[in-house]
Amino acid sequence: MSEASWPPAGCALVTGGSRGIGAAIAKQLAADGWAVGVNYRSESAAAEAVVAEIEAAGGRAFAIAADVTDPAAPASTFEAVEQHFGVPVLALVNNAGISRDNLSPSLTDDEWNAVIDTNLTAAFRFTRQALKAMMRARTGRIVNIASVVGLRANAGQSNYGAAKAGLIQFTRTAAIEVARRGVTINAVAPGWIETDMTADVNKDLLDAVPARRAGTPAEVAACVGFLVSQQASYVTGAVLTVDGGLGA
Ligand code: NDP
Repeated sequence: MSEASWPPAGCALVTGGSRGIGAAIAKQLAADGWAVGVNYRSESAAAEAVVAEIEAAGGRAFAIAADVTDPAAPASTFEAVEQHFGVPVLALVNNAGISRDNLSPSLTDDEWNAVIDTNLTAAFRFTRQALKAMMRARTGRIVNIASVVGLRANAGQSNYGAAKAGLIQFTRTAAIEVARRGVTINAVAPGWIETDMTADVNKDLLDAVPARRAGTPAEVAACVGFLVSQQASYVTGAVLTVDGGLGA
């Protein structure tokens, strides 16, 4: 069933929307007509700059601070965003993510737990929170930002790879659980994208990318925009790689 009007009577929430890929996604969704909650952890100036840019372009946005690993964050964040815009969150992008690279023999419990908590458990909790209103509304879009490292191994990233592989399988499973309610849940798996997260990566590694260049946050955001669009209403449980051919 296709929805009558789009965006529906709801707003969007992007976790980790203050920088990098998340900031590009927030701008994309705002340009597509969504009022967007821009979550961030610590950099309020960066989040407010994203909001200002969206508003300058005629869109609507609202910055909301929360550490996504806090078990109370989903409820408080949704409440704040929904109160601000006066409508439920009907598009959620679980983008907040960190890396703590180390080879497995040396990987500490802290490095393991921080990455699993942020990249996997938080996305589960935010998805669980989002599904309440989406299932009631019988429409909704959830996009989880995974990684090509969740599909193929990358030395030094066993914690990150495990979290992203887990996120992909969570995406697929939750997607089939709610598909009949008009809610879609998909994953985007970026390869090497130019952000703060990859600033220190050895540029020689780009030789392994068939496109011979890094991707941009906007290129990832465009794909997220598609998955959140009305046109993608029959796409669910999918993993869209955005990696210049790296995982092909
Ligand atoms: P950045 O490091 O540039 O930005 C990370 C964002 O996540 C920031 O907005 C940061 O907020 C936020 N964040 C981190 N931890 C938390 C937390 N606990 N609570 C709330 N917000 C948090 O990362 P990227 O833009 O590169 O990555 C975005 C997503 O894309 C991640 O999930 C990452 O794993 C994934 N990805 C990135 C790739 C790349 O090449 N860059 C490749 C594949 C996947 P603040 O600034 O306030 O700390």
